[in-house]
Amino acid sequence: MPRVSGIPPARRAALRRRLLAWYDGGHRELPWRFPQRAADGYRVWLAEVMLQQTQVQAVIPYFERFLARFPTLDALAAAREEDVLALWSGLGYYARGRNLLAAARAARARHGGLPASVEALRALPGFGPYTAGAVASIAFAIPAPVVDGNVARVLARLFLVDGAPGDARTRARLWALAADLVDPARPGDLNQALMELGATVCGKPAPRCDRCPVAALCAARAGGREREVPPARLRPARRPLVLACALVERRGAVLVLPRRARGLFGGLLGPPAVEVAGGDDVRAALARTVRAEHGIDLAVGEEAAVVRRVLTHRELTLRGFRCEAARIPRGAEGAWIREAAGRRSGLPTAFAALIDTFFSTCRGVQDKKRPLRRGPPGAKFRDRVRA
Ligand code: SF4
Repeated sequence: MPRVSGIPPARRAALRRRLLAWYDGGHRELPWRFPQRAADGYRVWLAEVMLQQTQVQAVIPYFERFLARFPTLDALAAAREEDVLALWSGLGYYARGRNLLAAARAARARHGGLPASVEALRALPGFGPYTAGAVASIAFAIPAPVVDGNVARVLARLFLVDGAPGDARTRARLWALAADLVDPARPGDLNQALMELGATVCGKPAPRCDRCPVAALCAARAGGREREVPPARLRPARRPLVLACALVERRGAVLVLPRRARGLFGGLLGPPAVEVAGGDDVRAALARTVRAEHGIDLAVGEEAAVVRRVLTHRELTLRGFRCEAARIPRGAEGAWIREAAGRRSGLPTAFAALIDTFFSTCRGVQDKKRPLRRGPPGAKFRDRVRA
């Protein structure tokens, strides 16, 4: 990482001093925050992975549940993927959970634990420059820079870097500034001070400069441009995605099967499904796909539940069709999800919501006729009932 960014030494020293004093004076108490040289690398790493694309308040309960189940890297390395993904359910971006497990196993096998080296960390699955820099600096006091969205915004304003955030030259400039600014004695604290400043003071679109410890050293503030820099990132419009889902119900439980490894919710359990577009014969497409992918012959009935979710890049609609399956092949890796278990089952939350909605619909119909049948599902295949 280049270390020549052109920060004059006196300004760099003043920025370090003020940022560290402000951080020491009081920062948010978070379960993954540690003083320099007292950090638990596993917790730092886990938090950094969970915080990607996810807000702090949403992460905290997931972080605590995950640690309760897998308190150490060794415990995680010995875990089953399905148990890891079940704890990840609801956080989204499930590849993060898979990479976490793969990296834990690789770190244990290659190094006996997390390695104290940026290069060795970068060689682990899922470790990009940000995660490697965060773990190296916070857990191992290595003077490695970090640039996430918060840090990028702070640096862009401090040094008036007004290129588009996604631009390669802008990114390179910000990383060079971060590398120059990181404090060799307290790199983790300096990096966390920048993260904290971006999260709590130097926000977008309206920074609270009157509370900022480095306001006197900020180029954007001096030029009255703190609300213009960095320019807003242009996001592509979300694409609509419609999945027709087969809801095969037996004795109060719904069939879920592993999805293909690639694509949305790849490798996770869900009702058998197919992407459909306007004009498709949805029932025919669903029956054809489930037959081809799972060897199950379906009789596709009425549409019984609809769920809509806004994902980062997609507007997702799940259309659930009540289906009858004559036979489930032996050896299929699936599960039956009981009524009211959807949200506790480790499924992606959109599928769990669809199943819960379906059961609510069933109950409404059944209440008018006769009670919903309960009891173990009559599956012939590996019968892992989640209740
Ligand atoms: S002075 Fe304002 S714009 Fe500059 S770093 Fe502080 S909060 Fe951000």
